[in-house]
Amino acid sequence: MNISIVEDEPKLANLLKDYLQNDGFNTSIYHDGSEALDSLMKNPGDLILLDLMLPGTDGMSICRELRKHSNVPIIMLTAKAQEIDRLLGLEIGADDYICKPFSPREVVARVKAVLRRTGTTPQNGTDASTPETASDSSFVFDEGTASVRINEQVCPLTAVELRLLGAMHERPGQIFNRAQLMRRMYDDNRIVSDRTIDSHVKKLRQKLETVDEATSYIHSVYGIGYKFEILENE
Ligand code: CA
Repeated sequence: MNISIVEDEPKLANLLKDYLQNDGFNTSIYHDGSEALDSLMKNPGDLILLDLMLPGTDGMSICRELRKHSNVPIIMLTAKAQEIDRLLGLEIGADDYICKPFSPREVVARVKAVLRRTGTTPQNGTDASTPETASDSSFVFDEGTASVRINEQVCPLTAVELRLLGAMHERPGQIFNRAQLMRRMYDDNRIVSDRTIDSHVKKLRQKLETVDEATSYIHSVYGIGYKFEILENE
């Protein structure tokens, strides 16, 4: 598996390289955006970690350009949480977004999660450092009875909670901002406050906890919103 690291800060690029190599990945580093685009158009590798602000061509243009030709998984790195909101709105086609500062361990975990989600799983299971994400087939949605079945256990939800969970569950690992969730939760283009969304998420989490308190499903991403990921609690 080859991970391309497009990052103009040499220290940060090398840190990511070390952690990824430690986990059995091969890496290629690019410090310049234009050079990266040229090379990645020819050979995108298995996944790209792409910084937003780069000399030469910026990360957003690189992502857009690559998407015209390739479905290679792309994780955007950005220094500003607000940027992620804007990028989500532009729908440039990245698979995930990570906000700086980040821990290299988190980046490795996200790389693996995106590879799993996009069906590009590493051959050998060198996955000791991160919690294993359980299979999604354990989730069965039933709109008729307004419930979700998790590992054969029934969890009754309201219609709004069911939609909220369904929207996030469709794209595990993807971060949703509150406006995106709001559009998915209501049919009638209703506008509600962020606090209303947060309160629905809170209730949904509590209900999911009653089914399986050892696992968490909905995670807050500071300054942005929420995402679905199946993680065993530590
Ligand atoms: Ca940069």
